Amino acid sequence: MLATTHIAFGTASSLLTAAWLDASAPQTVLMVAGGVLGSMLPDIDHPKSAFGRRVRPVSTMLCAAFGHRGLTHSLIAVVGMSALARYSLRHLDWHPGYSVPFVVGLSAGYLSHLAGDWMSNSGVPLLWPSRRRFVAPLRIFTGDYRERLLALVVSGWIVVHCLPNCAAVLRL
Ligand SMILES: [Zn+2]
Repeated sequence: MLATTHIAFGTASSLLTAAWLDASAPQTVLMVAGGVLGSMLPDIDHPKSAFGRRVRPVSTMLCAAFGHRGLTHSLIAVVGMSALARYSLRHLDWHPGYSVPFVVGLSAGYLSHLAGDWMSNSGVPLLWPSRRRFVAPLRIFTGDYRERLLALVVSGWIVVHCLPNCAAVLRL
């Protein structure tokens, strides 16, 4: 899946999470920032990915140790990121804190990346270190018209969802 599609997924998932948690506008902004970063984070194990290029020594090391779409795309990562979000929500102060919304958004974005890769032709190795890849029944091929259409629909939803909120903020 293309980085732009992952970013659209991360933005949408963090916006949905913010709406579900009834987050304030500043908390929503932090969640979206975390969601965008989280949507790119799993590909840190690929030195040529959009995120991996920015932290090449780390991504080269992770790729050599676990391979691309290894540990970072597994059920271990899903459980780890979910536990991180749960811990953040339960043990840190929600309202004045800046880190909690960011971490919650990061988790939402991370999980959206795995959902996106699950829908792509390569699938995700949820049972890593087993090499078996899990793929959605209706798969899309990276960069094909279905992925671009999906990215367009998700991006359109983001604009429609955000416009009324942006207008409300500008009126204040
Ligand atoms: Zn990936």
